[in-house]
Amino acid sequence: MRNSILAALFLTLAGCVATPPPRTVASAAVETRAPVTILVSIDGFRPDYLDRGVTPNLSALAAGGVSAAMRPSFPSKTFPNHWAIVTGLRPDRNGIVGNTMEDVRRPGETFTMATDDPFWWGEAEPIWVAAEKAGIRSATMFWPGANVAWGGTLKPHSYGAVDGGTRPEDWQQFNQAVTGEQRVNAVLDWLRRPEAIRPKFLTLYFDTVDSAGHGFGPAAPETTKAVGEVDALIGMLRRGLADLGQPANLVIVADHGMAPTSSERTIALDRIVKPTDARVIESGPYASFVPLPGRETALDTALLRPWPHMQCWRKSQIPARFHYGRNDRVPPILCLAADGWSIVKTAPDKPFVGGNHGYDNDQPDMRALFIANGPAFAKGRKLATFDNVDVAPLLRDVLGLPAAQGIDGTDAPFREVIKP
Ligand SMILES: [Zn+2]
Repeated sequence: MRNSILAALFLTLAGCVATPPPRTVASAAVETRAPVTILVSIDGFRPDYLDRGVTPNLSALAAGGVSAAMRPSFPSKTFPNHWAIVTGLRPDRNGIVGNTMEDVRRPGETFTMATDDPFWWGEAEPIWVAAEKAGIRSATMFWPGANVAWGGTLKPHSYGAVDGGTRPEDWQQFNQAVTGEQRVNAVLDWLRRPEAIRPKFLTLYFDTVDSAGHGFGPAAPETTKAVGEVDALIGMLRRGLADLGQPANLVIVADHGMAPTSSERTIALDRIVKPTDARVIESGPYASFVPLPGRETALDTALLRPWPHMQCWRKSQIPARFHYGRNDRVPPILCLAADGWSIVKTAPDKPFVGGNHGYDNDQPDMRALFIANGPAFAKGRKLATFDNVDVAPLLRDVLGLPAAQGIDGTDAPFREVIKP
């Protein structure tokens, strides 16, 4: 009796609900996706941070892929190196010679990390522009220069409007307040799109490891905590990709490492250079100077002699291994501090410890993370240290772009570990 009531009820309900269409092979099959390429930067991530026991995701990617301690370009600063990674040209040739710079063609103007006038970025073509030109849709969840309409001309007095130029098809204006989770979700949301408007090349950028390294020093527990938090975001990205059935070639890099600094290791410029002799363009791990008119000899006399913990050169005499000094934007005199020393405007009035980068790019603590993992790469291979300008040729190979001509980098370090 009860069973027949239930049976009648079920039939009634079944009559109310639209009968689902029979499953066909097409609707039952999960879409088979071609691999995408995701270039991830973890700013200031030193390769030995993988030894702290807080990076299960990055360590697994390294173990199942290709890893190395990568050499940044000089100066080992954020913008010059992010631009070197995506152009294959060292700062001296890619035009981003510092985080702050001047150009005689733009008197009275200063490039800062907020500058998106294409004028400053035009000396080297980034890989997303090459990709867009080749019909490979790109999307950038932050990367220095990715918000620039590359090759365009800024319209005067127009709140950033640009004539012409090429940007990634999708891009975001950098804002540190966008959380790591939001950045990962943005990448996953782009990959959730229908295939026709889905990117094939993406970038993703995290800044918190660098910030902790600066604020507390590379050995500090706060830095280790930030490393673990970014590792968890990499885990979130991996799970999201797996849920989408999206294979990916991940190329995870850092722009530079981090050296410990201290108020015990400072060089005070006000005791060396008179403000009437020069303008200081940058200071910190290195300092750069433009002599004031008629004060060239006075500045040379003040700086060009032996110093403890510091070396100064005219730009034409910077040692060749730095590949730095030919670009017009490099100021006439450069002083480089010894690793962990800080060139400061005045002696610090209270003690500090922290971290910095910008030093000799061949110093071990300036080394940068490199991990490549995915169907394009061999598994479990550790490479000898290579230059970060080699990453752009690697990305071109993975994306199927023709080799770029006349750049500084080469894909030679990867020939044994990349699958044809
Ligand atoms: Zn950086």
